[in-house]
Amino acid sequence: MGKLLIVGTVAFDAIETPFGKTDKILGGAATYIGLAASQFEVDSAIISIVGDDLQQEYLDLLTDRGIDISALEIVKGGKTFFWKGKYHNDLNSRDTLVTELNTLEDFNPVVPENYNDADVVMLGNLHPIVQLGVINQMKKRPKLIILDTMNFWMDNALNDLMEVIKQVDVLTINDEEARQLTGEYSLVKAAQKIFTMGPKYVVIKKGEHGALLFNEDQIFFAPALPLEEVFDPTGAGDTFAGGFSGYLAATNDSSFENMKKAIIHGSNLASFSVEKFGTERMIDLDRKEIRERLHQFKKLTQFDIELQ
Ligand code: AMP
Repeated sequence: MGKLLIVGTVAFDAIETPFGKTDKILGGAATYIGLAASQFEVDSAIISIVGDDLQQEYLDLLTDRGIDISALEIVKGGKTFFWKGKYHNDLNSRDTLVTELNTLEDFNPVVPENYNDADVVMLGNLHPIVQLGVINQMKKRPKLIILDTMNFWMDNALNDLMEVIKQVDVLTINDEEARQLTGEYSLVKAAQKIFTMGPKYVVIKKGEHGALLFNEDQIFFAPALPLEEVFDPTGAGDTFAGGFSGYLAATNDSSFENMKKAIIHGSNLASFSVEKFGTERMIDLDRKEIRERLHQFKKLTQFDIELQ
């Protein structure tokens, strides 16, 4: 069993989609990553910070799934990171209406001693300085460091972000962000430019259009499962990252061939996450449903063709 260290937000989200609205519910990159990764045989821990306004029942949801939250700092009298977003009718794009960093503003992450030798570090969306702080505290170089980020940090902390990108093995990013980061419209060219920044692997997420995995001379594409109903896409990218990193930590194999499988597991879990508001679907998910949907994935992409 591998050890997975997760860094990211544990948050309050307020979400509006064409199908409804929620008040402050549990969200955050680390939350989604942790819930997805807990579907694999991994020891995982979350490093994050919240205020004491975050209900105990939310923390219990994480510990109930075996996630170590001893490095989740709870600030007395502090306010938890808050994000509010509104989706457009196509559900592929959204506007961020509010980002309140709150306790995250002066967060100094502390890597717990029992995780400073983690096999895989999953740097979820968070200030790049915090992400760097975690890398610098590792006792030995993890086998794999995966970075997820978003346009918010490109707009607000680009130099720091470039420093982290330099140090990671895998960058996961969505298509628009890959274009913003590199100035390239072609995703193939964008990936090539990202290789010059440091990472050996690039995963470009394309929402309902699937995900692409690149290394220097290979490309793999995984579709997203066509779903009858998408209710709330929030956290799909993080759930994908959680499935991807969780599978890689559990299998302890970071070859390109195994990353292909990790992409499928990530896409599979993300397909559940969007079916209900917030983390709701990830909480009642069981392994039988996951296995069944993996079969659907396989059927979706298998075809016989004569090649001469
Ligand atoms: P995703 O839909 O996968 O891009 O992730 C949505 C999650 O990211 C929400 O649960 C938010 O709490 C969290 N989030 C939104 N903005 C930020 C930000 N600037 N930094 C870190 N996490 C964020």
